[in-house]
Amino acid sequence: MKIERDLMAIVPRDDWTLFSHLLIWHGRRCCYAQRPQCARCSINDLCPSAFKV
Ligand code: SF4
Repeated sequence: MKIERDLMAIVPRDDWTLFSHLLIWHGRRCCYAQRPQCARCSINDLCPSAFKV
């Protein structure tokens, strides 16, 4: 998968497991597929999809 390869290129190998868990929990607790909580998201200033759903 291209996204996976892109992330592997920029995330240090030692952080892959932690990074994976952070992505999963961000999706479970903030960035819901149907209704992402952009107003309280800590990376909304970096996210190109912020406040568009
Ligand atoms: S700002 Fe981006 S990452 Fe954050 S909840 Fe919204 S869509 Fe998800």
